[in-house]
Amino acid sequence: MTYDLIVVGGGIVGTFHAYHAAVRGLKVLLLEKDAQPHQATVRNFGQIVPSGMSGRWFAYGRRGLEIYGQIQQEFDLSLRRNGSVYIASDEDEQTLLHEVKARFDAESYASELLTADRLLERYPVIRRSYAREALFFPQELSAEPNQFIHRLHQYMAGRFPNLTLQFRTAVVGCDPSESHVTVRSTAGETWQAGKVIVCGGGEFRLLFPNVFRTSGIITSKLQMMRTVALPDLPLEGNILTGLTIRRYESFTQCPSYGRIRTPEPLEELKRWGIHILFKKAVDGSVIIGDSHEYASVDEVESLGYHTNAHLNELMLREAQRIVTFDVRALSETWSGFYPQHGDHDVYEHDIGNSIHIRTAIGGKGMTGSCGYAEEVIATLFG
Ligand SMILES: Cc1cc2nc3c(=O)[nH]c(=O)nc-3n(C[C@H](O)[C@H](O)[C@H](O)COP(=O)(O)OP(=O)(O)OC[C@H]3O[C@@H](n4cnc5c(N)ncnc54)[C@H](O)[C@@H]3O)c2cc1C
Repeated sequence: MTYDLIVVGGGIVGTFHAYHAAVRGLKVLLLEKDAQPHQATVRNFGQIVPSGMSGRWFAYGRRGLEIYGQIQQEFDLSLRRNGSVYIASDEDEQTLLHEVKARFDAESYASELLTADRLLERYPVIRRSYAREALFFPQELSAEPNQFIHRLHQYMAGRFPNLTLQFRTAVVGCDPSESHVTVRSTAGETWQAGKVIVCGGGEFRLLFPNVFRTSGIITSKLQMMRTVALPDLPLEGNILTGLTIRRYESFTQCPSYGRIRTPEPLEELKRWGIHILFKKAVDGSVIIGDSHEYASVDEVESLGYHTNAHLNELMLREAQRIVTFDVRALSETWSGFYPQHGDHDVYEHDIGNSIHIRTAIGGKGMTGSCGYAEEVIATLFG
């Protein structure tokens, strides 16, 4: 069978490449090795937050909001428009909030400053002792990460007759010839396509291991927790806090960022890349995270499969400083992994003019993949 495009990897990055190619009417095959994706794309918060990004990633995120909104009108992807709120806990964080707001105002990206009183009216479980001021982005979305990608696949399978989705199919070969690429699976199946885009996330061994070994990619391990269901808890939307203001890209571009110092009690959290985010799921449970540990492609195993109790404790202590409900009433904990590049905001590597590796989007995939993939498809297919 011959396709215009074969996409390897059914996480959010691969799926949106397949989506945009299918929208153009191309004949597309998406191959995913697992029965369902179960890596970074399902292990995250589901926060769709262009406000955390700058430059082209802000533009991709903003475009993503539009497309997500359009699809959600046709098919329930599990998206809710409850906005995002960044809570400043001290004067430095307040300064960054004001500066980021000025930048977003200039780009006509709506936001609203909230006094501590207004914040507590909307989110009465935030502690008065923590909150100084906040910035709210009403247009931003949250997804249910354990449902979103499966529903998107369901939607695409019904919407595009020119798209085939095939699961339980690990690709182990992409062999280019003059006219096409032959793609091989572990089961010995083969397909031909004019182009192949490889979006394998953190899988570096099955395809092009030598390319990945020298790619400069590093893998990040993140620890996450989920409370028991708290259905009446008034904490809707994406809740981001002081350490996030000190970490996210949009704030690092602010004029005052260079002079901001980390308060001593937060030093250990910063060393572990900890910032505290909350995202209430539809069942009322609250996802709390996260921490960041890093290893190179060759040493991914050194990150381990366990969750480190000390890191969870650091996060829970800081989370409890922010909110009044019992953050220790946990139902589960897990770790998630994503690749990112040391020097580039995404890893793009072409093999000839028909095989295109697009991975290592880092911690912005739920927000940025949709807009980014649209541009990649436009560039590759004209
Ligand atoms: C804990 C955590 C929290 C996060 N929170 C957020 C958030 O709130 N907002 C946000 O914007 N981003 C967030 N992110 C980032 C986001 O989840 C990732 O950027 C995104 O999911 C990466 O998608 P991907 O498609 O590149 O990778 P993956 O989800 O890893 O998907 C890659 C897929 O490719 C498949 N595959 C690999 N090799 C092959 C092969 N040879 N053949 C067939 N299939 C193959 C794999 O099975 C896998 O399903 C978070 C990430 C984590 C881990």
